[in-house]
Amino acid sequence: MALVVQKFGGSSVANPRLIKRVAARVVAQKKRGDDVVVVVSAIGDTTDDLIQLSRQITKNPLEREMDMLISTGEQVTIALLAMAIHQLGVEAISFTGAQVGILTDSSYTKAKILDIHSKRIEEELKKGRIVIVAGFQGMTLNQDITTLGRGGSDLTAVALAKVLRAKICEIYTDVDGVYTADPRIEKRARKLDRVSYDEMLELASLGAQVMQGRSMEVAKKFEVPLHIRSSFSNRPGTMIMKEVKAMEDIVVSGVTVNKAEAKVTLRGVPDRPGVAAKIFKEIAASNVNIDMIIQNVSRTGTTDVSFTVPQGDLRKTLEISRRVARKIGAEQVTYADDIAKVSVVGVGMRSHSGIAAKMFAALAAKRINIEMISTSEIKISCVIQRRFAERALRAVHQAFGLHALKG
Ligand code: ADP
Ligand code: ASP
Ligand code: MG
Repeated sequence: MALVVQKFGGSSVANPRLIKRVAARVVAQKKRGDDVVVVVSAIGDTTDDLIQLSRQITKNPLEREMDMLISTGEQVTIALLAMAIHQLGVEAISFTGAQVGILTDSSYTKAKILDIHSKRIEEELKKGRIVIVAGFQGMTLNQDITTLGRGGSDLTAVALAKVLRAKICEIYTDVDGVYTADPRIEKRARKLDRVSYDEMLELASLGAQVMQGRSMEVAKKFEVPLHIRSSFSNRPGTMIMKEVKAMEDIVVSGVTVNKAEAKVTLRGVPDRPGVAAKIFKEIAASNVNIDMIIQNVSRTGTTDVSFTVPQGDLRKTLEISRRVARKIGAEQVTYADDIAKVSVVGVGMRSHSGIAAKMFAALAAKRINIEMISTSEIKISCVIQRRFAERALRAVHQAFGLHALKG
């Protein structure tokens, strides 16, 4: 018997009516003869609401307590979905992440999955039950509750699909699949029928919210078969698959914008060996992921070093940067949190040239200044002023003719 993992995001379980719809969909899959494991997110905007609630108590909560708080959202949904499935006369059982042995490290609010003891799930499936698992959460060896980073239910689903060897991991969401750009920003964005693991990993990491970036790292590494589709229709969505030659014909498959980063600059940094190592070693030790880095040309024996970090880590990064700046004799630490990063992604970039020039020209034509640039084999990213984010995304989407792309 084959196994299917189905994940439903917050908007797909936003109210009791939708939870009942999800129940019907899951039961239909079960009746087709498959074993079904369901992963659900918290109802609607519950996670945001819980975060807001904590802010009314303190701006600086312990991350352990934050996880204790925000993991509660998913627990509500699993119980309600189990009840809705029971109402349809089908057996189902709900579990928290801890109960099904999702073991993580202790980096609270962005914990990494170390292992999953899937025995309990397998036992319940053998009994013919639908198994419902709370997304986004796990447990440390010390039995502390952790969460897997925003959007982390995707990671729960992908990791379960991997350990249970699912024939498919279906990600049900509020759009029809993966688009050439966020359809909320670019109305002319086109749905893609298939996307390679590499591209989806880049798109997700660069801000295409439809899949969590880290979940795509796992999906790519283990080639978990993924289908991203709408929970509001039966239309096929986007298949994430291994790259095939024909994919290279499309030079750019998607454009993203990420408004959740901030830029930190160390000014007047002594220009000598070992200084960069010192700065970034200390920041890495505090578990902050640095994205882009630029160092200016040194004219006077000192230089400026700028880098970007997730906005949520800005306060921590500034504290460390100021400390390091004093140690290495840098003059000053400044920051900007009004930036955005626009990126283009496509496996076709490996075999086509002139992509960067085209992107820069599209931004220039809209009089948008580029503050930082970074490239990899299949992506180009530019940091710009945040107020231009949407305009930049649309300009680049247009420049690459994505509105006319055939999925
Ligand atoms: P869920 O609650 O189901 O996890 P999310 O809100 O996390 O859903 O992700 C779905 C949203 O991702 C869509 O509503 C869409 O606005 C946004 N999105 C951003 N970029 C893309 C893209 N390239 N393709 C599809 N959706 C995208
Ligand atoms: N509820 C969590 C969040 O909003 C996890 C998820 O939806 O995937 O980030
Ligand atoms: Mg999501």
